[in-house]
Order: sequence, then structure tokens, then C-alpha cells
Amino acid sequence: MKFNTKTIHGGQKPDEAYGAVMPPIYQTSTYAQSTPGGHKGFEYSRSQNPTRTALENGLASIENGNYGLAFGSGLAAIDAVLKLLKFGDEVITTNDLYGGTYRLFTKIFENYGVKFHFIGMENASNIEAYINENTKLIWVETPTNPMMNIIDIEATAIIAQKHLLMLAVDNTFATPYLQRPLDLGADIVMHSATKYIGGHSDIVLGALVVKDKEIADKLYFIQKASGAICGPMDSFLALRGMKTLHVRMQRHCENGKAVAEYLAKHPKVEKVYWPGFEDHPNHDITKQQMDDFGGMISFVAKGNNYEEAIKIVENLKVFTLAESLGGVESLAGHPASMTHGSIPKAEREKVGVVDSLIRLSVGIEDIDDLLEDLAQALG
Ligand SMILES: *Cc1c(COP(=O)(O)O)cnc(C)c1O
Repeated sequence: MKFNTKTIHGGQKPDEAYGAVMPPIYQTSTYAQSTPGGHKGFEYSRSQNPTRTALENGLASIENGNYGLAFGSGLAAIDAVLKLLKFGDEVITTNDLYGGTYRLFTKIFENYGVKFHFIGMENASNIEAYINENTKLIWVETPTNPMMNIIDIEATAIIAQKHLLMLAVDNTFATPYLQRPLDLGADIVMHSATKYIGGHSDIVLGALVVKDKEIADKLYFIQKASGAICGPMDSFLALRGMKTLHVRMQRHCENGKAVAEYLAKHPKVEKVYWPGFEDHPNHDITKQQMDDFGGMISFVAKGNNYEEAIKIVENLKVFTLAESLGGVESLAGHPASMTHGSIPKAEREKVGVVDSLIRLSVGIEDIDDLLEDLAQALG
């Protein structure tokens, strides 16, 4: 089955009770048993719920994995992966991580004796110097937020396999429409399905997909034992969103390209970060591992003035000033005051988050309205 069919049919079958084409929202905590243990595979909804199972099967299908697991948020999914580790284990990850992931690693898991190395991964060969006998996991995010750096998944997977490490990839920005990490050798794919997979800014939900049964069994145990599951209503909405992922992503990519090219020529714009440009430092790797360039763009307004950047994002009318990304509507954010506000100026500027950096999640509206909005806000 091809990708654009899998988003709709992958892992799905009509409901057994009445043939409902969409899985019903099984809003139940428990299931009748005919005799102790005599049930239809569902006992208690923390362990399993048919609506969640339908979503999990769909997610496994679109990521070319064998097992899917859905959680109450993207961070709950990451939390489950980290619980595969124990005291003394070490993780190598990128120095340009999603802020919430960085916070989970440093403020929660460091307290449990897990050690993290935050390193530049734009060249995968940087990783090997940090591997020792305690290293267990490499955690990669690509493209990164908000600097749109690209990490070579296949090269990283070769290093992980050579040293018997697990490789997990946060595929939130690219989605499996653009990039399939399991096919490139990763062990675990993670999603904030809050973003593109849900696609309508109406849920918070996380997901993991794996190929290997042993890892899947451990993660199912953690999902059940720690209990950070998503409810049936949100599972339904995520599945409904997933069914249009391919058409939405196609438009996100088209609009993203038009916006990136427009901004690159604009006299008030200093620099545009978008992996589709030939002068992006890892453009060649991008072309190898991604099928298109997505709808996430960051840019620096000329003069690098904090107040000026705030004025631009406030003046936008079609773009909404808001956190998050990946919905049908275009959003704009100011990382220095929003997502990266708690990071000291000198620290954030080291990775490129300067005062006038603006991040756009380009939606699927008419491109003319988006460009006109940018023109008036920049003017
Ligand atoms: C939003 C996001 C997360 C966290 O997901 P939540 O659903 O908000 O918990 C993790 N990684 C990336 C890249 C994100 O954009």
C-alpha cells in the first residue's frame, strides 16, 4: 500500500459491531467479562482501548513500523522512551532540542541518574567521541526547532548499530509524509501528534512507533505501568487528522516554499532558515532523507531589534501569534520571548536564536493571503 492510501486505510478495518467506517469513540474504562479473564482482548482502558488501538495501528502503518503506542502528549511519549533506561545510563542528543524535551531530560531524568550529552550533530561523526560503555540511547530531532538544522538519520543509525545503541528520532516536524526514520535504521520514532498528525490544533497527543517486538513489549509495559495514555476522544481526533495528512502536507510544503522564497528576497529580511535552500548547510542530506522541505521556516528581520520583531509578529493578521505548529492555520512565534524566553540571551544566541528571529508554521490557506499578510507586517 502506498503512503497516501495508508494514511486512510493503514491498519484500519470497519468496526466489528456495526461496520462503522470510522472507529467509534469507545468512551469506557472497562469491559464486561463472561468469566474471569474471559474478554475480547480489552480489560481496562489504561492497558487497551479500541479507539486508541485503531490510532496506534494507523500510526504504525504510516511510519512503516510494526507497533504503535499513543500517549497523552508528545512529552509523555518521550518520557516512556527514557524509562527504558536506568541509573548510570548515558544519552547522546542534539544541542538544538525542542525546549520541552531539554527540560524533561535535564530537570527530571538527570535527577534519576541518567546523563545527557548535548552536542552539535550537523556532522554525524561528532557522535562517536561521546560513546562509552554506559551509552544506551541516541536521541535525534530533525529538522530542529527553530533553527531548521538537519541531522543525517542514516549515518547516525550506522553509528548506533555499530555500538549496539538505540536510536530514537523525533519526527514531529517532518512527519512520515516527508521522512521515515525506521526505514533509515532508527529503532524508535516519536511524534508530538499535537502538531501535523492531528493537524487541526485541537488535541495534545504523543506517539511512538517501533519495528522490534522486544522494544515494543517494553514500551507497552511502560505505557500500562506509568499510565500516560490518551483518551478515546483524542485518539479519534488524531486518527481523523491522520487521514488527511498527505493532502495537508503537500500544501504545507507548497506554501512553505513560496513563503521561504518570498522572505529570502525581502529587503527587510536578513536571513531565512529553511532546508530547501541550496545554501542550507545540510541541504544534500535533506534531499536524501526527506521527500520535500515542509512548512516550518524561521527568519531574522534586518537590524536584529527585539522590539521590531515583536512589532512584526503583532502586525500579522492571517498568521496567528501563538505557540505550537503543524495545524491547518498559519502561526507565527517569537522564540526569544516565547519558547526560548527562559534561556539566557548569550546561550540562545550561540545556537542562532537572536532577538529578531521569527518562526513560522506555514498553514494551508491561500498563498496570496499569506504573502500579502507578510508584506504588510514587514512593511
Ligand atoms: C511539541 C513538540 C514536542 C512535545 O509534544 P507535546 O505534544 O507538546 O507534549 C516534542 N518535540 C517537538 C519537535 C515538538 O514540536
